[in-house]
Amino acid sequence: MLATFFNIPVKVHWTFGLLLSFITYTAIVDTTNWQQALLFISFVFILFICVVLHEYGHALAAKRFGVKTKDIILSPIGGVARLVNMPSKPAHELVIAFAGPFVNLVIFSVLSTVLWATTGSVLPPNDEMQFNTALDFVRWVNLLNISLFVFNLIPAFPMDGGRVLRALIALKIGRVKATHLASIVGRVLAIGFIIFGVYSQNLILSLIGLFIFMMAGKEYDQTKLTEIVQTTTAREVMRTTFTKLQLHDGYPFVFQQFESGERNFVVFDLLGNPIGTLPELFIKDAITNKTNLNTVNDRYSDNIGTVAPDQKLGVVIEYLKKMGLSIVPIVDGNAILGVIDRQDIELFIRDKVG
Ligand code: ZN
Repeated sequence: MLATFFNIPVKVHWTFGLLLSFITYTAIVDTTNWQQALLFISFVFILFICVVLHEYGHALAAKRFGVKTKDIILSPIGGVARLVNMPSKPAHELVIAFAGPFVNLVIFSVLSTVLWATTGSVLPPNDEMQFNTALDFVRWVNLLNISLFVFNLIPAFPMDGGRVLRALIALKIGRVKATHLASIVGRVLAIGFIIFGVYSQNLILSLIGLFIFMMAGKEYDQTKLTEIVQTTTAREVMRTTFTKLQLHDGYPFVFQQFESGERNFVVFDLLGNPIGTLPELFIKDAITNKTNLNTVNDRYSDNIGTVAPDQKLGVVIEYLKKMGLSIVPIVDGNAILGVIDRQDIELFIRDKVG
């Protein structure tokens, strides 16, 4: 961790440190002019600050809509403000996505105004990175910020522009469809980058295109997954045919059921009340170690919970994780309607996301 502002920690991915050391090293080795080398290192340092400010733009906008930010991570390909949850309203997402680039636009506007008023030129005189005067240095910082603004607003995931575009479309149609459309736009754009990069012999442009292309589909899958766990109920996922194990059931019977596909079991007492579970882990362990177990009573877990049928799948997943359960009975009043285990969830999601 580097520092914490507004209760949001800034963390650095180790490869980012590597990149900084590399840049510093080359700057020192390649130069005979120490002043230029130091200015170049300062410039990289300021780039790093501008990226952090950009991420705080996202984080503080998110905070305004009650969305918490876990942390800000800096890596060689840029910064990420990791939001704890996604804003549900497209209008909120729009503001959060735009807030990052907006910070760079504000820095650019302020510096431009000052530069324009004092010198009449806001950008560096040529594209060779040299800091002949202090003002040139400021002009380079200015160019850096307008570049960050434009680059991040490329309308393709994982760029902020992709999120802005998705939010704009989502204002009209559903979020999943909007993500689908936005990822198509991103892919077309990515192919354009790759082709143009090859044509103009600009390797970096082609690589950016390739990266965007790969990320576009990922974002769509993620959104679809989020949508599924937020809208599906336990009733839709639960399995109604399942083995009701009793304490006196023999382990050979358990192995037999396990072989035929059931992974996790609920253990019931003689009155039919769920009293515990027999997780996959215990069964596999018994099989590999050839443990001498006679009945379920010899080894099961008395860890048990229940879930109501109208509970959302996302809540069920969190519940299983929190309770350390691998299976849970779905209970409505006194009636046990079915069970959900990890395998059921996996299969259901795999079936929907495809
Ligand atoms: Zn951003």
